[in-house]
Amino acid sequence: MNNNTDTPVTVIGLGLMGQALAGAFLKAGHPTTVWNRTTSKADPLVAQGARLAPTVGDALAASSLTIICLTDYQAMHELLAANDIELDGTTVINLTSGDSAQARETAHWAGQRGAHYLDGAIMAVPPVIGTAAAVILFSGPQPDFEAHQPALDALGTLTYLGADHGLASLYDVAGLAMMWSVLNAWLQGTALLETAGVDAATYAPFAQQIAAGVAEWLPGYAEQIDNNSFPAEVSALQTDARAMAHLIQESEAVGVNTELPKLIKAMADRAIAAGDGGEQYPVLIEEFRKPRND
Ligand code: NAP
Repeated sequence: MNNNTDTPVTVIGLGLMGQALAGAFLKAGHPTTVWNRTTSKADPLVAQGARLAPTVGDALAASSLTIICLTDYQAMHELLAANDIELDGTTVINLTSGDSAQARETAHWAGQRGAHYLDGAIMAVPPVIGTAAAVILFSGPQPDFEAHQPALDALGTLTYLGADHGLASLYDVAGLAMMWSVLNAWLQGTALLETAGVDAATYAPFAQQIAAGVAEWLPGYAEQIDNNSFPAEVSALQTDARAMAHLIQESEAVGVNTELPKLIKAMADRAIAAGDGGEQYPVLIEEFRKPRND
């Protein structure tokens, strides 16, 4: 393990995120080699002391740790396949967004070429990279993560999730499900209240309180899911379903979109039809576990 900032690192891909990653390594003092398809994007980094590698192969050879951050996995495979890349003994950390199958396949591909491979997901926007607010998830062999953690610390708050290479991508999309669900619920409420002349800014702090309050329920509800036992301690699903009907009726009456309320109620109705109406809300996990793609 090398825990000083002399550790050389390579960053391949200098889009908005790659530039931020390379910039954070440079700021922390790491000798940083960069490569990008569009060479000019390296200029600001070179001005800060980065070395621009002439080829991808040269970039990979320059450091025992290479971070890749491209548009998608296809771009990464196209890039590496188009060049006669030597990966034996090097560590590649792929921070490109993708799904868990792509992560596992790429780990297999890298392993066949003798590379150490970690997959990662960045839960942050470029301006916060290099600060504690930048949460970055990693999965893959723990010794590989620990060997490079001191260098990776330059990027933000690191979270190691486990040996399964797919975990970082799974947590990433799970987080997206949470983010969009909260935002859509807020937009539904905002559209409803606008019909009575209440503007978004007035409703926002109220909605924020509700979201924070609901978030408090998660650990207790998680316990019910893990124990597969859903006693209605606070409210039964059939009671919630009646409130869902109010949401649909109100949305219809004031002329706003009813797709989201109807989806919420349709799932609850299926669970009630299956005999779970007397259970507490997290019993709906059964509906989420089933494949249903329509
Ligand atoms: P971006 O600004 O569009 O940059 C894309 C990068 O991929 C560029 O370096 C581009 O090279 C390169 N690229 C695309 N296709 C290529 C190919 N076939 N061969 C070689 N290079 C190729 O995107 P970004 O915002 O940096 O995002 C990069 C990754 O980070 C994505 O997976 C994204 O989901 C993830 N991410 C981004 C954010 C964010 O807020 N930006 C947040 C979390 C995660 P050129 O410069 O030559 O076009």
